[in-house]
Amino acid sequence: MKNFIVGILIILIVLYVLISIPTQNQLTAHTAKALVITCMDFRLIDDAVYFLNSKGYNNNYDNIILAGASLGYNQTKYDSWKKTVDDHIGLAKKLHHIKEIIVIDHMDCGAYKLFYEKTKLSRTEEIKLHKENFAKFEKLIYQTYPELKVYCYLMDIDGKIVHV
Ligand SMILES: [Zn+2]
Repeated sequence: MKNFIVGILIILIVLYVLISIPTQNQLTAHTAKALVITCMDFRLIDDAVYFLNSKGYNNNYDNIILAGASLGYNQTKYDSWKKTVDDHIGLAKKLHHIKEIIVIDHMDCGAYKLFYEKTKLSRTEEIKLHKENFAKFEKLIYQTYPELKVYCYLMDIDGKIVHV
């Protein structure tokens, strides 16, 4: 029993060290693998970083924060939001040679209530709207940047990924 517990502890320490290792040296790196777009919501800033670290992206992505993430890009009420993101994608390509766009939406997002003019959305309704926005986001990005790969994630309010 004691050996089993020690074994589990060693595995956990090794996993923690592996997750904590930067994927590249920030003092010498000149490129980034991805541009990440997240919502502005204060509750998930740290969770987005933990998630990206767990996927091996630490020190390897540029980051844009935009209310609603994919919806912020897709919406047409504020023209400047999409243009600002497009300008930054262009910059990230030119300066850091990014190959991927990662968008991280989240549940209970205030931007969804704002843009869809709803005071409350059921979980099912909100997931459906995120799916629609991911599809539109992918389409718009591929129209302008067919060479970039797009990955869409939906994060629950506790930081876990919702499979859509
Ligand atoms: Zn949000």
